[in-house]
Amino acid sequence: MAHEVTFIPGDGTGPELADATRRVLEATGVDFTWDHQEAGLDVYESEGDPLPRRTLDSIVRTSVGIKGPTTTPVGSGHRSVNVALRKALDLYTCVRPCKAYAGVRTRFPETDIVIVRENTEDLYMGIEYERGSEENRKLREFLATLGAEIRDDSGISVKPISVFGSERIVEAAFQYAKRNGRHKVTAAHKANIMKFSDGLFLEVAREVAGRHPEIEFEDRIIDNLCNQLVSRPEEYDVIVLPNLYGDIVSDIGAGMIGGLGMAPGGNIGANAAVFEATHGSAPKYKGLNRVNPTALMLSGVMMLRHLGEIAAAERLERALAAVIRKGERVTYDMKPTRDDPTAVGTSEFADAVIDELGAGT
Ligand code: NAD
Repeated sequence: MAHEVTFIPGDGTGPELADATRRVLEATGVDFTWDHQEAGLDVYESEGDPLPRRTLDSIVRTSVGIKGPTTTPVGSGHRSVNVALRKALDLYTCVRPCKAYAGVRTRFPETDIVIVRENTEDLYMGIEYERGSEENRKLREFLATLGAEIRDDSGISVKPISVFGSERIVEAAFQYAKRNGRHKVTAAHKANIMKFSDGLFLEVAREVAGRHPEIEFEDRIIDNLCNQLVSRPEEYDVIVLPNLYGDIVSDIGAGMIGGLGMAPGGNIGANAAVFEATHGSAPKYKGLNRVNPTALMLSGVMMLRHLGEIAAAERLERALAAVIRKGERVTYDMKPTRDDPTAVGTSEFADAVIDELGAGT
C-alpha cells in the first residue's frame, strides 16, 4: 500500500531541493501518495499566513511530512513556520545525525554523532517583551519587586525549561541510542550559570540516565562541548541539548561533516513526524539549480526508516554515499573549490543518485 506523506516544498531554494528529493524517494520503488501543501514566505505573501491550517491538518491526517526550508524574516515580520509547526504538532524531538561520508571535504572525517535537540521549550517559546512596550514595563516593575533590576531600555526574552520537557527529550535520546546501537549519551547545558533552567535540565537528565544503566552517560558545559567537538569529536556519540544549544551545535555538526548541504533532520512527536534539512532556505541561490540536496535526501532516508522501509532507506543511503564518494556528479559545495566548473546542479545530482539506485549500488 502507498504511504501517504505531506509534501511541503517551502520557499527560497526549498522547491528545487524538495523536487530532487521526491524524485530519488520515488526511484527507491517505494510507493508514495504525496499530499502537496504550502508553507513559508510565498503563501504568507498571498494569504497572510505562512502556515495555513490546511497544511497542519494534512500532517495530522497523514502523520508524516517532508519539508523544504522556509524563510523567517529577522527581527520583524512573521514568526518561524518551523517553530510553529513543531509547537502545533508537539514535535518535541529534533534528531540530527551528523555523519561524514567518504569523499566529503572535512577536517573531521571520522565524525559520526547524533544531535537530539529539544524542540518546544527554552528561548524558542517566543515569550518576548519588546523594549518600550507596556508588557515590558509591567514585567520589569514586577521583577523589581523581586529584587531584579532590569534597565528600562531592555528587550526581554524568557527561557522556560520544565521537568516534563526535559524528561521526554532525554528519554528520547536514550531510546534513540538503544534502537541504533549507540553506546553513550552526553547532556549539554550551562547549569553553572542558569541554575534553575539548565540546572533543572541536567538534574532530570541524570535521573533519566539512571533508568538506562546499559548506556553510558556524561554531561558537558555547552562551551566546553563546542571546544571538544572540534578537538576530540571521536569522544561523542549521542548528544542531547535544550532547544537553543541544540540549534547552534547542529550547525557545528553540519560544518564537521562537510557543510549545511549535508546535514539532515527529523522533528518527531508522539503522533507525527516532519523530516527536513538542518539548513535554511538559502534565498540567494533560489531558482539557480545550484544547492546541494543531500541534506533533504538524507532526511528522506530518515523518513523511509520511520515508515518501516528499512531496505529502501539503506539502498538510498548507499546510492547517496556512492555519488559523494565518486565526487564527479556533485554540487559546488562538495567540489575541491567552490568555482569548480565540473560541479553539477541540484537536479543533476538527483539524476546521479537515481542512476546509482538503478545500478543497485
Ligand atoms: P541557510 O542555511 O539558508 O544558508 C546559509 C548558507 O549555507 C548559504 O548561503 C549557503 O552558502 C549554505 N547552504 C545552505 N543550504 C545549502 C545547501 N543545501 N547546499 C549548499 N549550501 C547550502 O541560512 P540563513 O541564510 O541563515 O537562513 C536563510 C533563511 O532560512 C532564514 O530566513 C532562516 O530563518 C531560514 N531557516 C529555515 C530553516 C528551516 O526551514 N528549517 C532552518 C534554518 C534557517
